[in-house]
Amino acid sequence: MNNKHDLPFQYIKGIGPKRAEILANNGFINFDEAINYYPKSYTELNSVVSINELYNDLTDQQLMFKIDTDKIFNINLKQVPTIIAKIVEKREVNLSRGKKLLSVILSDQSNKFAKLNFWNYTEYYKQKYLLGLSLVISGKATLNKSYVEFNHPSIEIINDDQIESLNNGKILPNYTLPEKLTKNSINNTTFRSIVKYSFTKVKDLIFEKLPQKILLKHNLLGISETVENLHFPENRNLLLDSLTRMKFEEIFTFILQTKISNNKLVQDSAIKITSKSRLSREVYDKLPFQLTKDQKFVLNEIALDLKKDSPMNRLLQGDVGSGKTIVALLTMLMLVDKGYQTIFLAPTELLAEQHFNNFNKLCEELDIEITLLTGSLTKKIKKEEFKKIESGLSKIVVGTHALFQKNVKYNSLSLIVIDEQHRFGVGQRETIQKLAANSFSDQNISPHVLVMSATPIPRTLAMTLYANLDVSVIINKPKGRKEIITKITYESRLSDSYNFIINEIKNDRQAYIVFPLVQKSEKIDLQSAEEQFLLLSKTIFKNIPCGIIHSKLKWTEKDSIMNKFVNNEIKILFSTTVIEVGIDVPNASVMLINNAERFGLSQLHQLRGRIGRGSNQSFCILATVDKYEYSLKRGVDNEMEKISALLRLKTMEKTQDGFEIAEADFKIRGPGDMTGLKQSGLPNFKFIDLLVDNDIIKKAGKEVDDLLINDPELNSVENINLKSFIEKENQANNYIKIA
Ligand code: ADP
Ligand code: MG
Repeated sequence: MNNKHDLPFQYIKGIGPKRAEILANNGFINFDEAINYYPKSYTELNSVVSINELYNDLTDQQLMFKIDTDKIFNINLKQVPTIIAKIVEKREVNLSRGKKLLSVILSDQSNKFAKLNFWNYTEYYKQKYLLGLSLVISGKATLNKSYVEFNHPSIEIINDDQIESLNNGKILPNYTLPEKLTKNSINNTTFRSIVKYSFTKVKDLIFEKLPQKILLKHNLLGISETVENLHFPENRNLLLDSLTRMKFEEIFTFILQTKISNNKLVQDSAIKITSKSRLSREVYDKLPFQLTKDQKFVLNEIALDLKKDSPMNRLLQGDVGSGKTIVALLTMLMLVDKGYQTIFLAPTELLAEQHFNNFNKLCEELDIEITLLTGSLTKKIKKEEFKKIESGLSKIVVGTHALFQKNVKYNSLSLIVIDEQHRFGVGQRETIQKLAANSFSDQNISPHVLVMSATPIPRTLAMTLYANLDVSVIINKPKGRKEIITKITYESRLSDSYNFIINEIKNDRQAYIVFPLVQKSEKIDLQSAEEQFLLLSKTIFKNIPCGIIHSKLKWTEKDSIMNKFVNNEIKILFSTTVIEVGIDVPNASVMLINNAERFGLSQLHQLRGRIGRGSNQSFCILATVDKYEYSLKRGVDNEMEKISALLRLKTMEKTQDGFEIAEADFKIRGPGDMTGLKQSGLPNFKFIDLLVDNDIIKKAGKEVDDLLINDPELNSVENINLKSFIEKENQANNYIKIA
């Protein structure tokens, strides 16, 4: 541990050696660590509202909640109001088992009252929040009778003489501190003085990564001023400028690192395909449909890529059901034609198998070997498949993660197709690229890469995430598809839905019934696939062939059920979200989703994408709990979680457009919630919001390009800091893996 004399914070007034040591034990050893610990939020003190204003706002918000999705999106779900008020009363209520509830009542003389509730440590809080103290409270607020009630707010005690300055338009930083600190009374106020002190000590020593030229060109603040204003914003504009600078820095360095790594790949040579493909043509001519204009356009873009000296690196985006698979197959055949191997990587076994069967059917009359490789094949079969792959006999290998096991040796692997790219991390793409590079005797050859995704992300964002990737988009779906009719229903009225399904089956259609759980759980009250399958297949559906599929089945079982469903032998498929991605049975025209309130929007969209694939009218029924009916009809509710769920269902009813749904998802979550992008293998950005900061992303991307043209090795004096930063990063987290 540190020598006591080395603890720099101990000399700050009110800290002392004991707390300095606690700080050190929690990662705050030196000034740098303090100034690099940025506030999570800010309280703009002239945005402080009176309790009465807040009360009126909350009442309005509830009235605003009419079921008209366009309007609802105007509610800012992340609104965090702040009040300054005095404690006027404390109440204690005895609960069962000796527990107590402590309510602290506050007033700011605006004739309304606010309430804070403490269910635990009531004695502690009783001592802490004394009558007459002034508190600054920010957090989610709801109405409870005549009180404005805060749920888990941030609370700070302030002195009366501070109130004056608080009302002066100051902006206070709020830090989310580790519990170990707050428990030892290192709270926000203390931490602010720690940061302030640290800043005065190091303000001239902060490392400036960005070249002066870029700072000047984009009017960005220098690092010292930025750091100062992030912690102690002088005003709103300077805070925004500081945030902009950090966003720029963050995305600029990220793009730079990715591009440097990808440039290494671009320098490699590729398998060039210049002549027309006979195999591709044969399959094309026998297709039961015409390719759409978009599909043809993308195929053309790909053909041009294959004529170049460097490998193709292309992202194909297209909403569910837009017909990406056939584009991939025709591309693979362009390379197979010339004797090369290709692979098609799918995220689940179910999907891999479906693609395998589909490719076999489409290539029936061609004399080419297609191989399936998944984790659950028997050892014996795997061994045989490995041989076929290694000898180069297999021309198309379809599989799951099993495709990048160490003992698979490819033979002249010229093209990698990755389906549902968002299911895979960036690292996995790199692993497989390396495997491919090793499959050629000439180590400078890199494979072509085609990644496909139905996750609609804005184009600029896509190009940034997968820097150096060209992006193709299929916008229009094949003709003749009807809009899927989507309706919300309630559990107590499920029998109507069952009858509807029976009717569809009489017309020779098929149905999916989806559940959030495989088995009934003691802990959560949700419908389960197994339980309902056992019940319904013996009662209301007893004359109809039913099947059940979920992740706990063996793959042979899944396979046989899926085949029966594809062949129309099973009419109703009970399932969990295993059918979420890619499954393609055009004859299925109904999907009933149980406990639909439990699913995320993109998940619902993916699920619904399983129907509406043929020319029949399709129907999606979203069944939800009865207690939502009232809220949906009356449009009044103040539970955030419930509001979000209702909005998701309403959005599904309203639109089928993947981009619109992604947008709605983003609005419902509120900015900053990047859950949907987490899977894409991106780092956790602190400042940039990839869905909002398009302009900054574009500018930063352009600067990176210029930089790499003018000084690709970052050797000039002005880029020296940048270079040393990137080298340090590479060592620290092995971020860029260069083969
Ligand atoms: P996704 O883009 O979601 O992967 P698929 O490639 O699975 O979509 O295609 C969905 C369905 O549309 C498949 O049944 C496929 O055969 C069919 N399809 C693809 N292209 C066309 C087209 N041009 N016209 C009609 N149907 C098509
Ligand atoms: Mg697909």
